[in-house]
Amino acid sequence: MDEWIRPRRLLLDALYLGVLTARGVKPLSRIEYQVPTWALDTLRGLGVSIEPVMRFAANGTGVSHLMLGTDAQRLARYRREYGGTRLDDSAPCVVRAQARNFGYPACCAEAYIAHPYAQSGLLPEDQALLFHRACAGCVASPRLLPAYRAALAQAERLMAAFECSHGASQASRCSRTKASSRRCG
Ligand SMILES: [Zn+2]
Repeated sequence: MDEWIRPRRLLLDALYLGVLTARGVKPLSRIEYQVPTWALDTLRGLGVSIEPVMRFAANGTGVSHLMLGTDAQRLARYRREYGGTRLDDSAPCVVRAQARNFGYPACCAEAYIAHPYAQSGLLPEDQALLFHRACAGCVASPRLLPAYRAALAQAERLMAAFECSHGASQASRCSRTKASSRRCG
């Protein structure tokens, strides 16, 4: 894998999550890695609030997550309930709460609780668009796919606009994708 792909993919995912949140497809989103200031500012420009929430790994190491949301009360509630807690979201009540917070269908949450390692019911390329695993025979997840595809397209446009306006090295990256080369060309 080319070295540039991974950071670009993580950044695109962050923008994708932000756009999904801005559009209300996901009430909250969580980013578990550092994101450059320009991307955070871009998401704020879409009306997304961003709050760090500190949690703890099993060995006691602090882990800072960025929580994205458009509803200040929901963000504050998340911080109250999860800030300072251990990173273990496997209890059924937590899986259900996370599904509500992150916009995952309840059927998929219940299937995950019953069979954590079951296969997705979607085509791999459709499953790859989602941040939850669709349950077998899921009716709700396919209905979400158009909104996810539209959000990803907007995230790609935001990324391409930034790459095309920032320096030769960034621009050379953007010439490698079809969407970006149109804008760079
Ligand atoms: Zn489902």
